Amino acid sequence: MYYLVILSTYFKFVYKPTPMTNKMLQFVDIGQQNPPKRDKSQRKEDFGEIYYEEAYHLSQSTNNMPEVCGRICPQDRLCEGNCVIEQSGHGTVTIGSIEKYLTDKAWENGWVKPIKVKIENEQSVGIIGAGPAGLACGEELRKKGYQVTIYDRYDRAGGLLIYGIPNFKLEKHVVERRIKLLKDGGINFINNFEVGKDSTLKELQSKHDAILISTGVYKPREVNLPGNDLGNIFPAMEFLTASNKKGLGDKVEMFDNGTLNAEGKDVVVIGGGDTAMDCVRTSVRQKAKSVKCLYRRDRENMPGSAREVGNAEEEGVEFIWLSNPKEFKGSNKVKSIIVDKMKLTDPDESGRRKPIVEENSEFEIKADLVIKSLGFDPEDLPILFQEPRLKVSQWGTIKADFDTLETSIPGVFSAGDIVRGASLVVWAIKDGRDAATSIESFLQSKQKMKVA
Ligand code: FAD
Repeated sequence: MYYLVILSTYFKFVYKPTPMTNKMLQFVDIGQQNPPKRDKSQRKEDFGEIYYEEAYHLSQSTNNMPEVCGRICPQDRLCEGNCVIEQSGHGTVTIGSIEKYLTDKAWENGWVKPIKVKIENEQSVGIIGAGPAGLACGEELRKKGYQVTIYDRYDRAGGLLIYGIPNFKLEKHVVERRIKLLKDGGINFINNFEVGKDSTLKELQSKHDAILISTGVYKPREVNLPGNDLGNIFPAMEFLTASNKKGLGDKVEMFDNGTLNAEGKDVVVIGGGDTAMDCVRTSVRQKAKSVKCLYRRDRENMPGSAREVGNAEEEGVEFIWLSNPKEFKGSNKVKSIIVDKMKLTDPDESGRRKPIVEENSEFEIKADLVIKSLGFDPEDLPILFQEPRLKVSQWGTIKADFDTLETSIPGVFSAGDIVRGASLVVWAIKDGRDAATSIESFLQSKQKMKVA
């Protein structure tokens, strides 16, 4: 109390406040009282508060699809995990939900508008792959007036947003309205066009001033076990694509005849990543009789997000940790799997504990649909595109300059999973935006050279 009296005397008679501090010093003279409710324009002036439409514009100024990231980003590992309020122990700002809410509201209110180009630029860019990397790059370049064509081998644009990630995580109408918006803004989409089959890379280069390769990674990793060629054993993408196509209202024969439909089946998913979680949760929604997930390490060492595992468990999925398939059994179709129990070694030099087989531990589980979800590798693009000058890493990902994302071929850039390896939507969007900046600089120098 004594100190408070000294402090308030000091502020009253000695300290000469500046106009800036005047407002703050009112506590010296004014007793405790409840302030009257103030108008939002006043609050905006004092604290820089912003409201819906403005907040939406701010949120989308660094992200081409905030409503998508709001729905499917692993925020606990990204923005929310780094939130300073979370670190103070208060609990994070729920950035993902806010992003989703704001952007959905923006769509409802008509604040999301197609690109209106002020001055058209005749230079053109060809983008191979209509996933988030290609779409983000295309949108940024179109905003600058460039002519953008996006080629995709699927019959719909969206990449893994449309055919990989299940509808219960990312509703397809959310992706479709984005694509329509880009079309309305003047981006040209050519679907059912596979570079490597319908054109070589060189042929495409002759049609455009610059190229972006954003083809993602699609080659499924295999388990080569006895019985691998039995019926009803599928790679994850085949299962998820069929389910997504069905959800979009397509006729999918393999689903309709029951082959790729989990209904009434004992489903076993092999793998412990996020794609495996999508497969188990899709099987539950298709009314499988039972759903098991085999993973060779334990819960603490699995690559998938803990949140997704929790969700799957809540929905009735049984996780068999420390287990590895040894053989698929059946006559024409798979009927069961022989599984080895695993144990983990002490951490090796990389710090990771290696799974090894526990001797004489095998057991058998029933399975009439097996889904293999062991990750993805890139396709052999230099061969596929008939372009040996395209340099790739030892893993087959495209080698692109770290700063410019330009490949070993001048004027050909690359972004997304095909550079990083299987990653996340938010990184694909960022890479696409970065590539757009580099492509613009490239086109500007090309234009200057033409004029000179
Ligand atoms: P993609 O989205 O893969 O798009 C590439 C496009 O290129 C495709 O449309 C393909 O048809 C096209 N293409 C390929 N080759 C050719 C060719 N030769 N000619 C023409 N077109 C071609 N990330 C998250 O952040 N959250 C999630 O919840 C999440 N869930 C996932 C679930 C699944 C099942 C999978 C497989 C991935 C998931 N991911 C998730 C990862 C995320 O989807 C990818 O990181 C992201 O889509 C990569 O974007 P991209 O544009 O590089 O490639």
